[in-house]
Amino acid sequence: MTFRPRYTGLIDKYRDRLPVHDDTRIISLGEGNTPLIRLQNIPRELGKDVDIYVKYEGLNPTGSFKDRGMTMAVTKAVEAGSKAIICASTGNTSAAAAAYAARAGITAFVLIPDGKIAMGKMAQAMMYGAVTIQIKGNFDDGMQLVKEVAEHAPVTIVNSINPYRLQGQKTAAFEIIEELGHAPDYHCLPVGNAGNVTAHWIGYCEYSCSSGDHVTEACAYCGGKCKFAGGAITGKRPKMVGYQAAGSAPFMRGGPVKEPETVATAIRIGNPQSWDQAWKVQKESGGWFDECTDELILAAQKLLAEREGIFCEPASATSLAGAMRDIQSGKIPEGSSIVCTLTGNGLKDPDTAIKQSTSPVVSIDAELDAVKRAIFENTII
Ligand SMILES: *Cc1c(COP(=O)(O)O)cnc(C)c1O
Repeated sequence: MTFRPRYTGLIDKYRDRLPVHDDTRIISLGEGNTPLIRLQNIPRELGKDVDIYVKYEGLNPTGSFKDRGMTMAVTKAVEAGSKAIICASTGNTSAAAAAYAARAGITAFVLIPDGKIAMGKMAQAMMYGAVTIQIKGNFDDGMQLVKEVAEHAPVTIVNSINPYRLQGQKTAAFEIIEELGHAPDYHCLPVGNAGNVTAHWIGYCEYSCSSGDHVTEACAYCGGKCKFAGGAITGKRPKMVGYQAAGSAPFMRGGPVKEPETVATAIRIGNPQSWDQAWKVQKESGGWFDECTDELILAAQKLLAEREGIFCEPASATSLAGAMRDIQSGKIPEGSSIVCTLTGNGLKDPDTAIKQSTSPVVSIDAELDAVKRAIFENTII
């Protein structure tokens, strides 16, 4: 029997690639190290020779990839002596901020759009003890307010405009390369603020640099403050593909969308904070942006659950919805390896799931005959 050291989170694992010191107090909940699952049934049904993997970020401690960024952001906030953090959120950032603040023993203020976040996410912010501020406005209004209030109050912003967020999130790309042995041909992500697509690209760039762990272009993203410098990109990098919900697709409209609307509430964002970085990623990687209707998003969410046994939230399914369409059309050619990030856990939004499910639910008397009948009537031969 050999024992592996206990996994203690992504900062410990990638310490030499992250801006932390030896004596930095790490605020971690064991985030990262999420499964990369190879789809078996969906590619077969598509009738295409493709390798699709899903990176199941819903298995992070608070159920979304936001934990990767939040462990770094809160670690650095605490290191700088901050006693409070603040964020605007469509739900998952507030859940992560609240949890990591609780762990650190500091206060989290979270601004959320009134009535427009999934129930599970609301429960999380409340249970972790955040101060929840519901605004009569959307995420973009909340983001504007957070930026303004941070100039007047001693609070650290932990939205993805905080550069430490992207540093933490880049580790997802490291994990994928380590597991596959190389970068995939395509990496598909849902896009809201476009922080995550940017973070992944930073990760792929760092990992594919000739000098091992050095950054060249990626330095532009962290303002040149990154501790890695020199070296050239020689390793393989994927084409980065970002999908937005059709009702909130500013990248497709060429500018901010005033009243973003979509069932995928996590990406209900009309004014992405990482606008310039995202376009740079698209250009450098040779990828593209596109949009998916709510109908297509929900169909992909359901298909993934029914065919593969993987339950993600609606926004997360946008990556697979778009990828399947682009595989079908040949835009993503046969023979490709594709990673789709499943950004959040399906349990966060039970309302949407139950509303669209068509699986049989039968109510019967608690009697043997009734159970037999229910089984007989629902057996597919
Ligand atoms: C935050 C979030 C996104 C969008 O990520 P960005 O970095 O804002 O583009 C997508 N899906 C889920 C579930 C999220 O929580």
